[in-house]
Amino acid sequence: MVGMALRNVRKSFGGLEVIHGVNLEVPSGELVVFVGPSGCGKSTLLRMIAGLEDISGGDVLIGGQMVNEVPPSGRGIAMVFQSYALYPHMSVYDNIAFGLRNIRTPEPEVARRVSEAARILQLEPLLQRLPRALSGGQRQRVAIGRAIVREPKVFLFDEPLSNLDAALRAQTRIEIARLHQTLGATMIYVTHDQIEAMTLADRVVVLNGGRIEQVGTPLDLYDRPDNVFVAGFIGSPR
Ligand code: ADP
Ligand code: MG
Repeated sequence: MVGMALRNVRKSFGGLEVIHGVNLEVPSGELVVFVGPSGCGKSTLLRMIAGLEDISGGDVLIGGQMVNEVPPSGRGIAMVFQSYALYPHMSVYDNIAFGLRNIRTPEPEVARRVSEAARILQLEPLLQRLPRALSGGQRQRVAIGRAIVREPKVFLFDEPLSNLDAALRAQTRIEIARLHQTLGATMIYVTHDQIEAMTLADRVVVLNGGRIEQVGTPLDLYDRPDNVFVAGFIGSPR
């Protein structure tokens, strides 16, 4: 059972603190959404969880282990970014397989995992295409496929839908919810979009200025916002 915990996590850039001691427990299998205005520290928190950014203070735990004590390859974390840079000269299949081949996964195992990801994401008819022959939504599904084949214990998403138009955003959001149900993996999903947060989350973490304002289910936050910031951000009648 692999969840995630933040214990008094701090982050400074050049002496300026931007994350001010964040505490959070995410049980295994939960889909938690970090929401808050631009610059509030969502990406910085996610990057610390991914081990892409040094932690200035406190601890990040994945499955009870401190991330900085586990080598990057053993952390069981996969991250999906907003800008999904696919290799333009490689087929969808090869794009999804790339990370596995990089760590010398035997080819039958690569084939098994790529087929499984393609099935989950409904990419089977597209496996031989080049990225330029895909829509934006299909490209983002390929990027998610690259994360799935690594069979991570924790998925991190940083505003994965913000480059998509409204219709595709809604559709891809449903696919991510389905993916969460299918895999049962712990997911941490960052967005500045309240609607995305409220529709996807088991629990929502509202961030503001490098601090947590409130943590709760979408209904909790809507019905019982702790303060004016949360009410205003979530759009509760208060
Ligand atoms: P969000 O993802 O919520 O928009 P970020 O985590 O990107 O916010 O940024 C949080 C704060 O940290 C902002 O004030 C931003 O300017 C600052 N910041 C982020 N990355 C760096 C960096 N590499 N160097 C200096 N400041 C940074
Ligand atoms: Mg960000």
